[in-house]
Amino acid sequence: MKVTVRPGDTFWYYSQLFAIPIHLLIDSNSHVNSQNLQIGTTVDIPGFILSEHKIVPGDTLWKLAKSRTLVVDALLLVNPGMIAESLQVGQTIRLPERVIKPIVNGKRVYKSEDMMKDIEKLKSIYPFLRTTSIGQSVLGKDLLELGIGRGAKRVHWNGSFHANEWITTNVIMTLLNDFLLAYTNSTPIRGFYIEPFYFQTILSIVPMVNPDGVDLVLNGPPQQEPYRQEVIKINNGKFDFKDWKANIRGVDLNNQFPANWEIEKERKEPKTPAPRDYPGNAPLTEPEVIAIEKLTRSSNFACVIAFHTQGEVIFWGYEGLEPPEAKAIANEFSKVTGYRAVRFVDSHAGYKDWFIQEWRRPGFTFELGKGVNPLPLSQFDEIYQETLGAFLASLYM
Ligand SMILES: [Zn+2]
Repeated sequence: MKVTVRPGDTFWYYSQLFAIPIHLLIDSNSHVNSQNLQIGTTVDIPGFILSEHKIVPGDTLWKLAKSRTLVVDALLLVNPGMIAESLQVGQTIRLPERVIKPIVNGKRVYKSEDMMKDIEKLKSIYPFLRTTSIGQSVLGKDLLELGIGRGAKRVHWNGSFHANEWITTNVIMTLLNDFLLAYTNSTPIRGFYIEPFYFQTILSIVPMVNPDGVDLVLNGPPQQEPYRQEVIKINNGKFDFKDWKANIRGVDLNNQFPANWEIEKERKEPKTPAPRDYPGNAPLTEPEVIAIEKLTRSSNFACVIAFHTQGEVIFWGYEGLEPPEAKAIANEFSKVTGYRAVRFVDSHAGYKDWFIQEWRRPGFTFELGKGVNPLPLSQFDEIYQETLGAFLASLYM
């Protein structure tokens, strides 16, 4: 919600008026000098939207404000020039509405454009949420990183490396939305308040690493050639892509990292582009993987979690290169999710493997849910509750 600064207004006053943490106001208005607010400046109030209300007999500003647990000055602020004493029946005024319901609905088919629309909406309500394009997919879709918090420790999450594991994006986006709601409304999640985290951590989220693949699974083949012909050919002429894990070129993005990539190359069955498991003809050939690699190299992440489905397992080791604390963290995750913590698996060239190998810091692969990919949306609630525990643990550890 945007307001126009009046004489005497300060961020501190706005934070009192709307019961919003002051640093969220400051971070939502990074273009504004918070110490010296200029009259007439437009300022964003996070966590609020404006609605319109037609005055009916009996309405008073005091009553309207009270019904929204606000004071009259909050209404005066969003209706510049309005005079409280001369309210007319039939007159339309604006009312600040606290946002208490989520934008994101995790229990629906979630294509890349649905996610992008939700991100736009979230950004307009919560301008302290930062978005950065870290690259483009093969088909030119923006790969977005979402950033939140102002702490020193950077924690990274990503989802939908694998196309038919797209429910991981639903989970991550719902977690983000619930986090934003909890913080702007000062309500706890499972007894935890978000405020301390905001100062300890920066959360980096790439909710959909493989948008071309996700859209292929959900929408069928793209119009663009040569990709249309190619994916149909790779898929043996079938138009059902629900088993597809790779990107649009038939490369498995989680087999592309330079952590013993050669072993995977040697032993993996597909020697040419395939719906799954083909590691490419060299490491780091695909733009989606390059974007994640660059982001990781430039970000100094303390910990990363890559979300996949399925199996209810947390993988936490790689070749014994993981730091000693990784085990304790994995056990904590295991406790809150009910998932099994597994140190070694006979697999290389994944994002988590590469992260552990390069930085010797904690890196995890979560296999959410149980069943056959793509997991049905009927599993969403259960998976969400399991992941929420891990989300809170990753912020506070
Ligand atoms: Zn996967």
